[in-house]
Amino acid sequence: MQGLGSGAISLAGTPAQQAAYLPRVARGEAIAAFALSEPTSGSDAAALQCAARLDDTHYVLNGEKTWISNGGIADFYVVFARTGEAPGARGISAFIVDAEYPGTGDSPSAWTVMAPHPLARLVFRDCRVSVGQRLGAAG
Ligand SMILES: Cc1cc2nc3c(=O)[nH]c(=O)nc-3n(C[C@H](O)[C@H](O)[C@H](O)COP(=O)(O)OP(=O)(O)OC[C@H]3O[C@@H](n4cnc5c(N)ncnc54)[C@H](O)[C@@H]3O)c2cc1C
Repeated sequence: MQGLGSGAISLAGTPAQQAAYLPRVARGEAIAAFALSEPTSGSDAAALQCAARLDDTHYVLNGEKTWISNGGIADFYVVFARTGEAPGARGISAFIVDAEYPGTGDSPSAWTVMAPHPLARLVFRDCRVSVGQRLGAAG
């Protein structure tokens, strides 16, 4: 889970983003999570609806993620959201969202799984994420 949650930063993060997150992940001082799936987009990830609206120096995230491993205990989430540059998969960007940001909410697992682990639904309500937290180019 540490690898999944930090993989996008390893692949697409700037040197500053990598320095800010990866050493803490490697040392086990920060718990990482990967937030792609939504209630109506699982295998068809390009159908995701969580929205990130650009507002000057920030993106404003609104939407819902589900089945998120490490949800509720993570220090940060790599969140995929629709930024709208193009339809479908080409209009999606990824963001590093610190769990402490206002507007990042989680509900504990309501599921019984064969190998129990933290699993939560995440709800983003007007969660403001600075442009510098975007991974790679928009879209
Ligand atoms: C324990 C657990 C942990 C998870 N952790 C995370 C996580 O950390 N982060 C995260 O983002 N997500 C996570 N997920 C979500 C997981 O990635 C999704 O469950 C997965 O993408 C499948 O989506 P779905 O459950 O909506 O099923 P669906 O996409 O609705 O699929 C249901 C069934 O239909 C089949 N199917 C789908 N599309 C097609 C097609 N085109 N043709 C034929 N058959 C098809 C599938 O094979 C499957 O059998 C987790 C899920 C579980 C169970």
